[in-house]
Amino acid sequence: MIISIVIPVYNEEKNLPLLTENIFPVMQNMGEEFEVIFVDDGSTDKSLAVMRDLRNTRSQIRIIRFERNCGQSAAFDCGFKAAKGDIIVTLDADLQNDPNDIPKMVEKLKTCDMAYGWRRKRQDPLLKLLSSKIANYIRNKLTGEDIKDTGCSLKAYKKECLNNLKLYNGMHRFLPTLVGLEGFKVAEVEVSHHSRKYGKSKYNVRKRLVWPFLDLLAVSWMKKRHLRYKWEEI
Ligand code: UDP
Ligand code: MG
Repeated sequence: MIISIVIPVYNEEKNLPLLTENIFPVMQNMGEEFEVIFVDDGSTDKSLAVMRDLRNTRSQIRIIRFERNCGQSAAFDCGFKAAKGDIIVTLDADLQNDPNDIPKMVEKLKTCDMAYGWRRKRQDPLLKLLSSKIANYIRNKLTGEDIKDTGCSLKAYKKECLNNLKLYNGMHRFLPTLVGLEGFKVAEVEVSHHSRKYGKSKYNVRKRLVWPFLDLLAVSWMKKRHLRYKWEEI
């Protein structure tokens, strides 16, 4: 079995060394073959040089580079397509997700097809916590689901979940819904969360609420209008 770790990176130069130092022992302890794919989403700081440095001494690291900033959905999509793994794990580059949670995410795939993290004790500014609470509430109301935390990047997938997934900008916020819509079993795992120490969040309130709300209308439409039929040839 190969495990691919896919990490979107946009101006995270200070976080990348520690992130790598945290991920490697966890993956080595798991005893499975693995790769770490950094998807550089058009960083303008030294992130790319730092990644190259880290790769010099670690052959498991792969680097994909976008020519400009294209957004987190594009970065995940590209990472999914490049991944060689049977299992794909995603997490943020900013050390807010904890690599120590990777084994339990992978373990969860024994009983489901996709596992998504729930940051029960989320370490973010109050405004962000509040806006996310409201967004999660409205999303669950409109989609008729009970997904506590769709925005946590720490997720694990069996490769087949991603084969036919068509992503659009902003859709990374709805991955449990989209994967579930395709008939796969999705399940929640409680994960740790840390505050951001270096660099800045890439999303302001507008980016966190306005576009995601419009995306939500699209996703709830897709959910309602999804083709559901059972057939046989007679
Ligand atoms: N990110 C990215 N492209 C973007 C915005 C963010 O690749 O256009 C990455 C970012 O570097 C980080 C992750 O996506 O690894 C989550 O971003 P951020 O921490 O800013 O989001 P927040 O935790 O504030 O929701
Ligand atoms: Mg973050």
